[in-house]
Amino acid sequence: MPIYEYECVDCGERFELRRGMTDKDDEIECPRCGTKKPRRTFSAFGTGASESTVGSPSESCAPGRFT
Ligand SMILES: [Zn+2]
Repeated sequence: MPIYEYECVDCGERFELRRGMTDKDDEIECPRCGTKKPRRTFSAFGTGASESTVGSPSESCAPGRFT
């Protein structure tokens, strides 16, 4: 089950919620200020592209390849 990251547009609070496909559109409240319009962000692993390579000696994980 995916974990979505949210960032409150009001107070900047960032939090994570584990959401199923069916309730992703439910109303979400910021746990800090209660604003109901948090902006959804995605963590790095949220794309699913890199997950399949976990555990293999992938060169993408080698240090010093950012340049
Ligand atoms: Zn907030």
